[in-house]
Amino acid sequence: GDLADGMTRGVEGIAAAVSETFMEPVVRLGVTGLSRAGKTVFITSLVANLLDRGRMPQLRAAASGAIVSAYLRPQPDNTVPRFDYEAHLAAMTGSEPHWPDSTRAVSELRLSLKVRPGGLGSIFGAVTGPRTIHVDIVDYPGEWLLDLALMDKDYAEWAADTLGRLDQRPGSEGFVAALGGVDPGAPFDEATAQMLAARFTEALNIAREAGFSDCTPGRFLLPGEMAGSPVLTFAPLPVPGGSTPRGSLWREMERRYEAYKREVVKPFFRDHFSRIDRQVVLVDALGAIHAGPRAVEDLRRAMTEILGAFRPGRNAWLTRFLMGKRVEKILFAATKADHLHHSQHARLTSIMQALMKDARRRADFAGAETAAMAIAALRATVEETREQRGESYDCVRGTLMSTGRQTALYPGELPEDPALLLEPARDGAEDWLDGDYQVMHFAPARLTLKPGEGPPHIRLDKAAEFLLGDRLR
Ligand code: GDP
Repeated sequence: GDLADGMTRGVEGIAAAVSETFMEPVVRLGVTGLSRAGKTVFITSLVANLLDRGRMPQLRAAASGAIVSAYLRPQPDNTVPRFDYEAHLAAMTGSEPHWPDSTRAVSELRLSLKVRPGGLGSIFGAVTGPRTIHVDIVDYPGEWLLDLALMDKDYAEWAADTLGRLDQRPGSEGFVAALGGVDPGAPFDEATAQMLAARFTEALNIAREAGFSDCTPGRFLLPGEMAGSPVLTFAPLPVPGGSTPRGSLWREMERRYEAYKREVVKPFFRDHFSRIDRQVVLVDALGAIHAGPRAVEDLRRAMTEILGAFRPGRNAWLTRFLMGKRVEKILFAATKADHLHHSQHARLTSIMQALMKDARRRADFAGAETAAMAIAALRATVEETREQRGESYDCVRGTLMSTGRQTALYPGELPEDPALLLEPARDGAEDWLDGDYQVMHFAPARLTLKPGEGPPHIRLDKAAEFLLGDRLR
């Protein structure tokens, strides 16, 4: 039961604390974000840049020489898939660089750093010698965090919420039509359940493709080895008129929804989420802005939900799993900033800050230190200012995936005031990042950019300093 789970966690928690005190310290760094946000690229690039330092001037321990060496070590969790660092790095840095396969489930990688306190030439360092700190990077889909909201809702409430949102989203026609032909009070049959679940999953996927963020239940999009199991074979149904008879379709759907919460959502929070020390939440804000105001509004809601997971006391059972443990730092980072000329980065950062402020108004992070940044884990473009009909345009140039050609593109301008984006239904809101943004799918650039073209990432070092810097001093 719950209490027993909480107790086990408590004992393990003590064991972990003891080993931290007497042995080598461990930082568990969670990396999340909705699918395609850039988690895989972020982790691969972060690890590559920590293994092979010299391109991380804003990470103080790297710049000062305090990091003596860095290496990959076997991870502590034996049943969690290892993050496939080597394959992802090979994809991004091969002779024909391409983007790696994206995150589909939870995975883990241990990076161990040998650190000399105080940096090179420090007397203190010479006395105590270097120490080792393990950074356990845990990669998991942000969709799974959104599922936390399901824990507060019973099936009838969740179904009503979800059905109520259908008409604001593209792609639900098939599911709505299927619902029309079904009586939720009729006796359950598996074929109908499968058909409804398939149409519902389709609708979620189309909404996600169209830039909508809040597409729960999260495992419907990323099922992994649970594909086809009963916990993923349900759909929202309206409450049948009158009653919900035993053995009805509605009752079985309700049972499966509860099983999803109990057997999918809870174990994830207990086994993975509750152990995280530092968290980075990656956001493809540019993608949502390009998809339009409704997608931005949806992203804002999703971010509030996601960050709500870091609010202690939100769920009695979650609080128990956490056993007083807190996430110490949360970084909220807009990815793919290399799609914009640096003259617009400050605006992207303000948008992230505004999104975060909004979430913070509703969720108190209880002492967690937070920051918002615009980053690119792997810079695929260089900047270029072009003159056209007497006007100058700040462009970015890179190799387009579609044609394989070098092309300079002007993505349009972000508004100076983030409120213009975050308050829906303002006039002209549809116009941001119109222009060439949709064709901007650049191939990863070779890691060796020419001198003067800048580092192969944007502010990845600043992100690392925020997340890990204090533990490397
Ligand atoms: P995940 O689903 O969160 O693991 O996302 P990925 O890391 O696989 O990234 C999804 C896609 O976003 C990649 O295939 C790239 O096309 C793009 N992307 C991610 N990071 C960057 C970046 O730093 N710069 C650019 N230009 N594109 C990126």
